[in-house]
Amino acid sequence: MIELLFLLLPVAAGYGWIMGKNSAKNQAHQLNRQITSEYSKGLKFLLDREEDQGLEHLINLLEVAADSVEHYSTLATMFRRRGELDRAIKIHELLLKHPSLDEQQAATSRLELAEDYIMAGLLDGAEEHLVWLVKAGYKEALEPIINLYSQTREWEKGINMYEAHNELFTKPQHVKAIANFYCEAALQDNDTQIMRKAISLNYKAIRPLYELGHSAFTKEDYVKAIYYWRELISQFTFFAPVFIEELALSYQKLNLTHQFYELLNELLDKGGVLIKIKHCQALLEQGHIEQAIKFLTDSLKRHPTIRGFSFLLQLLAKQNNDIKDVLDQIDKLVTSYIATKPDFQCQHCGFTSHTIYWVCPSCKHWETIVPSRGIDGF
Ligand SMILES: [Zn+2]
Repeated sequence: MIELLFLLLPVAAGYGWIMGKNSAKNQAHQLNRQITSEYSKGLKFLLDREEDQGLEHLINLLEVAADSVEHYSTLATMFRRRGELDRAIKIHELLLKHPSLDEQQAATSRLELAEDYIMAGLLDGAEEHLVWLVKAGYKEALEPIINLYSQTREWEKGINMYEAHNELFTKPQHVKAIANFYCEAALQDNDTQIMRKAISLNYKAIRPLYELGHSAFTKEDYVKAIYYWRELISQFTFFAPVFIEELALSYQKLNLTHQFYELLNELLDKGGVLIKIKHCQALLEQGHIEQAIKFLTDSLKRHPTIRGFSFLLQLLAKQNNDIKDVLDQIDKLVTSYIATKPDFQCQHCGFTSHTIYWVCPSCKHWETIVPSRGIDGF
């Protein structure tokens, strides 16, 4: 009998274990049901626009289910997309106060909250959170805070932020933005010293060299204008259409046009059709029209462009007086076609325009708008 009881012991232990497990399972099940019920209630209230009750339920839910942070973020994102910014803000503020959030989750919630504030036009609130994130070393906050300072034209603030945390600026687009902040601040205070600081940044930007050259040019300091613009055209040859006429004039004012021609020769391989046209004009001025026509024809065979074709027509018209009128008529048509094409295009979002913008009006990136390329470009 006793042996039988011994035999039953493992059964009893097993039974106890199973019962215990079931009881734990039941508790977990009950908790899950509670969470689902609170979550559904909260969601329903929110969708019915009974915000206070909805959020109260969500607060209760957060207390029992700290791991539902993801759900909240999704919900807040959904509200933001629908333009219901007050709700998105409430949820993100709620999340941010929650003690169980880990460091990364808290930073993400803060960043999201700042985005909500920006969309709602509450820029001071957004700035406060973004500054906090930058100070804590979160690179993700750089883009929105740069955009914010661009919008408010608070160049000094952006510059100070860069000078205090320059180790975070590892992306060229962020350094380019700061280089432009220096330029904007310099233009505002009429102080080219500030602009020079932009040249020493770890990423070379177009704007400081352009502005320094332009400032010298307007002061008729052609030596300096050539110094800055020569550096610019050597590094960023594609940008030549913006200032090549003034650069040519600077050389001309100093009676150094032959040096300009030498420069064009150096740039022929990396330059676009405009450099080639300028080179042909130089040949023309030196009386080498045959050479210019041959050069341009060969070049167009390799890289056909409308602007190049138009200039070739002009060269041919000069050489063939009997068909000059016909060639002029064709060139007129080609020129009016070119006029319909945008001169500049944003490399980031594709925005096109006839004028240069240092910050893209569409995507808000700095120095992404460049002279058009391709068959219709420069
Ligand atoms: Zn753009």
